[in-house]
Amino acid sequence: MDSVTALFGENVFNETVMRERLPKETFKQLMKTIAEGEKLDLSVANIVANAMKDWAIEKGATHFTHWFQPLTSVTAEKHDSFIQPAGEGKITMEFSGKELVQGEPDASSFPSGGLRATFEARGYTAWDPTSYAFIKEKTLCIPTAFCSYTGEALDKKTPLLRSMQAVSKQALRVLRLFDGNEAVKAVRTTVGPEQEYFLIDKTLYDQREDLIFTGRTLFGAKPPKGQELEDHYFGMIKPRVQAFMQDLNRALWQLGILAKTEHNEVAPSQHELAPIFSTTNIACDHNQLTMELMRKIAAKHHLVCLLHEKPFVGVNGSGKHNNWSLCTDTGQNLLDPGATPESNAQFLLFLCAVIQAVDNHQDLLRISVATAGNDLRLGANEAPPAIISIFLGDELTQILDCLESGRPYGKHEKEKLQIGVNVLPDFNKDMTDRNRTSPFAFTGNKFEFRSLGSSDSIACANIMLNTAVADALCSFADELEGAKDFQKALHALILKTIKAHKRIIFNGNGYEESWIREAKRRGLFHLRTTPEALLQLKSTKNRSLFKRHGVFSDNEIDSRFEIQNETYAKTVRIEALTMIDMAQKLYLPAGSAYCKALADILTAKKALGLDLPDDFEAEELKQVSSLCAGIYRFTRALQSAVDESQALTDASELALFCKDRVRTAMEPLREQVDALESVMPKDRWPVPSYGELLFSVR
Ligand code: ADP
Ligand code: MG
Repeated sequence: MDSVTALFGENVFNETVMRERLPKETFKQLMKTIAEGEKLDLSVANIVANAMKDWAIEKGATHFTHWFQPLTSVTAEKHDSFIQPAGEGKITMEFSGKELVQGEPDASSFPSGGLRATFEARGYTAWDPTSYAFIKEKTLCIPTAFCSYTGEALDKKTPLLRSMQAVSKQALRVLRLFDGNEAVKAVRTTVGPEQEYFLIDKTLYDQREDLIFTGRTLFGAKPPKGQELEDHYFGMIKPRVQAFMQDLNRALWQLGILAKTEHNEVAPSQHELAPIFSTTNIACDHNQLTMELMRKIAAKHHLVCLLHEKPFVGVNGSGKHNNWSLCTDTGQNLLDPGATPESNAQFLLFLCAVIQAVDNHQDLLRISVATAGNDLRLGANEAPPAIISIFLGDELTQILDCLESGRPYGKHEKEKLQIGVNVLPDFNKDMTDRNRTSPFAFTGNKFEFRSLGSSDSIACANIMLNTAVADALCSFADELEGAKDFQKALHALILKTIKAHKRIIFNGNGYEESWIREAKRRGLFHLRTTPEALLQLKSTKNRSLFKRHGVFSDNEIDSRFEIQNETYAKTVRIEALTMIDMAQKLYLPAGSAYCKALADILTAKKALGLDLPDDFEAEELKQVSSLCAGIYRFTRALQSAVDESQALTDASELALFCKDRVRTAMEPLREQVDALESVMPKDRWPVPSYGELLFSVR
């Protein structure tokens, strides 16, 4: 293997390559665009495009594509080759600035939630110069935003970039109030997403329609062993998995993705990969690429990578921990408590901004992680509950308590804790990272939003988080900018914020029933499912938030509401239809055939004149017959729920119906089939068992 340093970023048109290949002036202009978001001149774009093309061709590329993130969970690309006719039957390889800056894919088949009628199929992609172009499968990929003819966002990147701009703008206003920040020109949100996944054998996968169509098992009796021995977490990595990880790391490094940590997770066959954090839009692009490469490289190893949030009942599902912070362009982490009173005051204010943001917009954070898959995980005592709250740890909570009540704190036993005078203690990272049940935890110098689903883009979660924090910072700046006595106003604002929003802080065990009651008492949202959560999206509060910060227009909110509801309903229906199909084509015939075999044995025994009072075949026959009858009945019931859903046209009503009637009708069917599986002989069971799926990769 080449050395890692040599192969790292070799397929990326990054700063080093740009510096080498672009004229000095062009390079400078492009860097300015990247750093400060300035518009790029077409003449500059032409030079960049040409350099990109030459570089890509040298690396063996023949095509280019505008790579974008429509409102599905995957990325989209349409490849064009570089060829141009050059007369006399010859071609040249061309790539213009215009082609780099803007594209026009036929967009009619991407979800738009009513933003774009099919007859007006035009959608535009626009280059995001802040995320480097890269080569994947002989294609030069240009990260782009995707919007409609009228400029409305049809993708996840556009609002993410808008939300980053909003945070930067408001954070700068707040930073200007403190000394020492004069050189800061921009504030970026940083993200390090930890990605969980399962790896299972491809041959077994191919025998399971449910995995193929829905990404999860819809049936499956519990194996004798699950995760109870806790022997998989951080356990030795099996050779086949190790080989996969090596290939994956190499591919990620070639794309400049900072793959860092890998280990086994709690469930058998479950693993995790964490990169080193980067700027949010890049982290988001990289996470999409990581998921894509995980799938591709698994296939090379005759494995399948399951990114579904809940592939198996009875063992942990998969999520994504979104480690998030704010960082200035001068390298200051704004959520780092720091070692001096001045920076403490600034830290406390930013901390308060996050507390206010999360409390005011719990509903949006919940919505940002809402999918049919993730609903199966949140609140199931393996992932954070569906209630959004913040874990701060004892130390920080105590500091806020003392500030609020004017009591002395710890080492300042006689004097009251005063912002801008006293020094906060160094937070021990271990002290703040123990509570794994919290959806939103302070972990020393960043927050970790843990409710994200494993298959979802991280864009939505960060759009909501950034916008909510931008809004809190905006209200702080409004209040402090005109203050006569800054220190006094600052102190008062911090106290006010703690008082108003401390209900969102919860350091206890989020898995306990008592927390649900307590959260209700505190007036926190408990939005258990996607369709319920989505009902909050279009509230006046949310609409005005997004408008205030230019993140979503009303139309864009409406379209996202439609799409998220539609996607939920479609997912549930596909699951239901897959269950019906498997029950009718696999399980019922297998059950019947077994009944016949049992009956044949009984007949044969009788014919021999044997008189055995307690033939096990007779008992088994009764049991299997009755289970099959149950399967038949529940299949019919599920089918009629699906049929009934066809009449609904309103996306939200349909989603609610799918939750209340379709998903609930799936449960008893599964119970019967799983019961049948546990009594049937192995060679008569038509699909691989949980035991085989979970324990066969070595
Ligand atoms: P753990 O979750 O085990 O405590 P770490 O805290 O080391 O692990 O890191 C988890 C993730 O958080 C990594 O992806 C890391 O790069 C990321 N991270 C660390 N600091 C920041 C930061 N300032 N902003 C965003 N992500 C960060
Ligand atoms: Mg973590």
